[in-house]
Amino acid sequence: MKYIFVTGGVVSSLGKGLAAAALGTLLERRGLRVLMQKFDPYLNVDPGTMSPLQHGEVYVLEDGAETDLDLGHYERFTSGKLSRLNSLTSGQVYETVIKKERDGDYLGATVQVIPHVTDVIKNRIHEVAKRDDIDIIITEIGGTTGDIEGLPFLEALRQFKDEVGSENVAFVHATLVPYIQAAEELKTKPTQQSVAKLREIGIAPDVIICRAEHPIDQDVRKKISMFCNVRPEAVIPFLDIKGTIYRAPLNLHDQHFDDIICARLGLETPEPDLLEWRNMVDRIVNPTHTVRIGLVGKYIDLKDAYKSIYESLTHAGAANDVHVEVVRIDSSDIEESGPDKFLESVSGILIPGGFGDRGIQGKITAARYARENGIPYFGICLGMQIAVIEFARNVCGFAGAHSTEFDTSTPHPVISLLEEQKTIQEKGGTMRLGTWNAKLLPDSRVAELYGSTSVSERHRHRYELSQKYQSFLEEKGLRVVGTSLDGSLGEIIEIPSHPFFVAVQFHPEFQSKPTAPHPLFKGFIGAAMGMRR
Ligand code: GLN
Repeated sequence: MKYIFVTGGVVSSLGKGLAAAALGTLLERRGLRVLMQKFDPYLNVDPGTMSPLQHGEVYVLEDGAETDLDLGHYERFTSGKLSRLNSLTSGQVYETVIKKERDGDYLGATVQVIPHVTDVIKNRIHEVAKRDDIDIIITEIGGTTGDIEGLPFLEALRQFKDEVGSENVAFVHATLVPYIQAAEELKTKPTQQSVAKLREIGIAPDVIICRAEHPIDQDVRKKISMFCNVRPEAVIPFLDIKGTIYRAPLNLHDQHFDDIICARLGLETPEPDLLEWRNMVDRIVNPTHTVRIGLVGKYIDLKDAYKSIYESLTHAGAANDVHVEVVRIDSSDIEESGPDKFLESVSGILIPGGFGDRGIQGKITAARYARENGIPYFGICLGMQIAVIEFARNVCGFAGAHSTEFDTSTPHPVISLLEEQKTIQEKGGTMRLGTWNAKLLPDSRVAELYGSTSVSERHRHRYELSQKYQSFLEEKGLRVVGTSLDGSLGEIIEIPSHPFFVAVQFHPEFQSKPTAPHPLFKGFIGAAMGMRR
């Protein structure tokens, strides 16, 4: 087993996760079996309880683990199956240590960061390494070198390298090389200092990925090489990527990133087969036309809050040979100024998942606009619940219909708490999470899109469509076309008389890949193209 650890220095948001994922793509396409994972030094057990303002999207794995959005990159860039073992936080580490201490497992010892905390971190890597379907584990360490919380992780990696032999471990450090306009110069000092910090801990990077907004010339590379004790060719410029992030593996391959890593780890492999990947990138960057999709949400100013949805739209656009221009619409603005101004020029409306009652009425208005004007609608999780509330109010005539999440005394609770949730108090990791199977009606639009009547999709919700309202909705033309296997939970709704009105209780965006777009996103974009205005 070979191990690659990716750390970051100077600032966050360098694209470290993207560089790690791109390396995963390159190694996988050299025929190696790659598994990616993330260690996050913060004290939350997982990001499931964090606000999108703090953390961006919560990415859900097949087994229901709520993880960092970088795991989304990993799944889109590589095919290794991820599980909750592949996402470790300080919160989990300390939870484990404290439980062991309370259980008396430390036999009277004083419990300390070294060795007890570092042991838990190393054990996790060993546990993952037991899998016999992988050759390489790439582990990204969240945060920035020098952060107090990150120290135990780096110390654990130092120990780990000595235990498994340094010939089996490569360290990649991503830093920023800023350009100072007044001096017209790229500055290497921050990189030097962050590498010095790593070396203080006993870690010497093998490759330095230099994020920069200006080209890095040979002199600058040589300087970084000399001060950081890395070969000049292993100082790899990582400039802003034009067109699509899926270019990252191609750009890094041009700089021999994968060659250097393979040489360092003694891996003899053929050149990567990047044909399929290049074709996919070409389709993304050279579309013949554009379609505008309105995304009506609550966190539209945050680039990362609906990350997987934006990516899925890109994949679906490429599959339809069209550029998807996402018009981000704050649902509160619709509440203030009405829908026309925001929605009159879009060819499709997507309402993503969400929690809490801010902006709910604006979303209901947007769903109504889509239904009444025949504009393709795609509702995801909360977006399905919104569609049901809107239909119940305005078509079935159930005044005040609502979800009990937002109005506990609604006369028509068309959306209500899942039965199993009623006794749950704890907030962390307690929703209906992860992959569940659903069966679809054979004559539905979704069965046609999937090409199947049985699907498995990832979930993250507490509320459901109330069964007792189903017949009223169906009578008026909103059909429940997908349910859980036992038939008890509504998973997908459609309005068959509408050009495209599909909403799902799950999160299809967690399964879309650039090389394998999700059929529902593909169908939605296809419908929007037919509607182009
Ligand atoms: N808040 C809703 C629920 O808990 C929707 C969740 C979501 O959109 N992920 O059911």
